[in-house]
Amino acid sequence: MKRYPFCDLAATNAPYMEGIERVTSAVIRSGRYIGGETVDIFEQMLCRQTLPAGHCVGVSNGLDALRLAMRAVVIDRDLKGGEVIVAANTYIASILAIMDAGLTPVLADPDPVTMNLDTSRLDECLTTDTVAVMPVHLYGRVCWDELLREFAGRNGLFVLEDNAQAIGARAELEGLNGTNVTGGLGHAGAFSFYPTKNIGALGDAGAVVCADTGLATTVRALANYGSSQRYVNDFAGYNCRLDSIQAAILAEKLPDTDAVNAARRAKAGIYDALIDNPKVTKPLFTPSMSNVWHQYVVRVEHRKEFLKYLEANGVGYDIHYPTPPHLQKALKGVKHGPLPIAEMLAEQVVSLPVSAVTTGQDVREIAAIINAW
Ligand SMILES: *Cc1c(COP(=O)(O)O)cnc(C)c1O
Repeated sequence: MKRYPFCDLAATNAPYMEGIERVTSAVIRSGRYIGGETVDIFEQMLCRQTLPAGHCVGVSNGLDALRLAMRAVVIDRDLKGGEVIVAANTYIASILAIMDAGLTPVLADPDPVTMNLDTSRLDECLTTDTVAVMPVHLYGRVCWDELLREFAGRNGLFVLEDNAQAIGARAELEGLNGTNVTGGLGHAGAFSFYPTKNIGALGDAGAVVCADTGLATTVRALANYGSSQRYVNDFAGYNCRLDSIQAAILAEKLPDTDAVNAARRAKAGIYDALIDNPKVTKPLFTPSMSNVWHQYVVRVEHRKEFLKYLEANGVGYDIHYPTPPHLQKALKGVKHGPLPIAEMLAEQVVSLPVSAVTTGQDVREIAAIINAW
């Protein structure tokens, strides 16, 4: 039986092998393994790609990017706590970053169609303590519209995008900073280069981008023991620096962002055209780069049976995510209202193969397998 792997990172990185070997050798020979010119070049590339004339700080991973950005906001705005609105069906990292900065996550039940923040219900989450909103571009779909922009502006909220899953996606509308690229839409954007993301390192890596010079300086200091000047510590910071070797590898891969995303989008388009089974709800497909298809997520009511069927037919899959954050022990102390949509999604979502190792032909075959269920 033919097998359709969900994700095969060795195969994903194979086309970059020569470049990766060349740049990693150069880093090894340079004797500079943390920061330095390699990291500077990577940061400038991500800046150009995201926020013309902005700032970029390469950091250790996506969670650290989020928590450093959140803590920098607390420091720069001199906040004594506050609430941050975030979709309840996000990956737990978004929420952990809010809690880590001493802020309170306010879990919003998502829109069942976009599976992102329901921007028509943001006012229900607003209190006098709201200080920020964190749009998560979940599964690669842009979470940005006029309602969100207007809501943040009217209430003076800081907007931190969790852009771990949507590098290179474009909103249909400009952001606060006059760009339509995710990560540059809000006041700051956090990136993850975890190996499975659309652009992945060969280990952990992340980045924070923002337009504000003061905020970028605070993020950079926090990531380096709270220090901007050697042996002078202004904040009780962390060690969240980016390895030079990962920066060099990412500089090889970043120029391919649009091509990688276009390839994923083409596969999503094939699924969208071919999957035709009333028991399988397809994700909303729009003819633009407002979704870079980090995951192609369908919904099924009888998921256990469906998964068994996929296994029996060699189709790899994953569940993003089987338990919503509010039902995890780690969030025991976090208050929230009823979250029926987040809980329904956790029970019904299934991610199908859409990565670089899945060919168009594979996608056609998987669609046929699904239609025969
Ligand atoms: C992957 C991911 C993160 C965290 O990134 P890491 O690099 O794994 O720390 C945060 N938020 C979302 C939505 C993610 O998918």
